Amino acid sequence: MLDDARDESVPLTRSAQVAVIGSGPAGATLALALSRYADVLVIESGGLEDDPETARLYEGESIGIDYSLVDTRARRLGGSSHLWSGWCTPFDPLDFAERPWVEHSGWPFGTETLAPYYADAAHLLNLNNAVFDAAGTLSRIGVAAPRLDPLETVLSLWRFGLPTARFGESSTIRAMTAAQVHVLCHASVVDIRLDSSHSQVRELVVRSTDGREGRISADFVVIACGGIETPRILLNCRSQVSYGIGNAHDNVGRFFMEHPHAELASVPPIDDDWYECATRKGIDVAQHPFILAFGVPPARQIEERILNARAHFYLPPTGSGPMARLGVFMEQAPDPDSRITLGKARDRLGMLRARLNWKLGKLDEYSAQRTGALLATQLKRMGVQHERIEPPYFANRKAVTYTSHHIGTTRMTNDRERGVVDSSCRVHDIDNLFVAGSSVFPTASWANPTFTIVALALRLAAHLRELIAPEAKRDMLQ
Ligand SMILES: Cc1cc2nc3c(=O)[nH]c(=O)nc-3n(C[C@H](O)[C@H](O)[C@H](O)COP(=O)(O)OP(=O)(O)OC[C@H]3O[C@@H](n4cnc5c(N)ncnc54)[C@H](O)[C@@H]3O)c2cc1C
Repeated sequence: MLDDARDESVPLTRSAQVAVIGSGPAGATLALALSRYADVLVIESGGLEDDPETARLYEGESIGIDYSLVDTRARRLGGSSHLWSGWCTPFDPLDFAERPWVEHSGWPFGTETLAPYYADAAHLLNLNNAVFDAAGTLSRIGVAAPRLDPLETVLSLWRFGLPTARFGESSTIRAMTAAQVHVLCHASVVDIRLDSSHSQVRELVVRSTDGREGRISADFVVIACGGIETPRILLNCRSQVSYGIGNAHDNVGRFFMEHPHAELASVPPIDDDWYECATRKGIDVAQHPFILAFGVPPARQIEERILNARAHFYLPPTGSGPMARLGVFMEQAPDPDSRITLGKARDRLGMLRARLNWKLGKLDEYSAQRTGALLATQLKRMGVQHERIEPPYFANRKAVTYTSHHIGTTRMTNDRERGVVDSSCRVHDIDNLFVAGSSVFPTASWANPTFTIVALALRLAAHLRELIAPEAKRDMLQ
């Protein structure tokens, strides 16, 4: 059932067992997975189409490295999946570990916890399976792998779903309707009201852009509004707690991370089949596209004390010559001063706008330069006669571009003083409030976030199912 909050006949004051705020990959996945066990209401600020007035709710200030808060996300049913390019890859095991040279690193669990959910996430993202074995994929399609030293270079894959999953399109809406998920569009959550002990969400205040208002109560509430909007909502909820909900230790909005991208070199064409799979999308045996990526292996990252990264080849826009480019996608180190706070201006719903201070630090720059240097040597071994490897200097902000990934701003840790949510993604000290999305990632990996967002949303759905229907078997998607 799809309701429009602007329609006078639609009641805005209602209740549900689970209220999911936001319908992007995180919220839609969670709602679909839970619909078998619970009465689920999705509250979505946007509608079926892009709408400039709703998009303006995303406007805010950027006071650090220049960043667009509007172009990097979509405020409509399906969220930013309308904009995403579909690059999927899982986190590496080392990404979850506490690394002494990366302050604030370490997840409360490891890759083995996410593995079963990656398998289901692959299904939802139309990837066929969750196999990301680069050498095996090349061998299955009869392409000789590049000659690389496995102690110095790791070969990885980005894979692309067929078709690219867009969660606001008719297939998801049909699936939600069939699963009896209620979706309330054009309704923005503007406040979260707690009970008198401040340990339970009592109700959500929702508003439409044309001034209707309602109150929604639910046994469980999940905020799935993306890595900028989720902290913005929590910080705006000051009607009962002056510092915002979940922010007793001033962690909400901190540790904003991106995947900075820098160009390293120009590369003349290489007469090798693997190069085709690196510059253009290769096609695996199940006809799914993939792209090769080149990284520094975990043991060398530990030795060099650098962040994770992957270099990749890409073709510049047509007309700029035959040279391909070599670029690097970097993990960004968690930094409490790279953060989202609230500005002074308000949006038309009365919420204070976000102010983003995106910062990169010394470890980010050093890791990009060192990765570039290490891979330069290895690429030469592989016969890549690159013209120059230009070390990216992040202090020169022009050398860095961003990739529209918003990570880390409600970080997960079991120590309530050092983060916002616990290992089950529950906001510390609030029994029935959860967060889904990349804002909970304590570290960012080199991996594009959506595959892991969907896997984590499925894990959260399994956790909520245990609380709501403990007798039910694990069959989240089928
Ligand atoms: C150009 C571009 C390319 C990208 N390419 C890739 C890629 O190749 N690979 C990859 O992994 N990722 C990519 N991404 C990132 C990817 O789109 C996001 O990681 C993903 O969409 C995040 O999902 P989410 O559900 O957490 O948040 P979102 O998709 O941002 O969804 C949040 C939802 O919350 C709603 N909402 C916000 N505020 C409120 C409120 N107050 N009340 C109610 N609802 C609200 C929004 O309308 C939206 O529907 C790309 C992004 C962009 C912009």
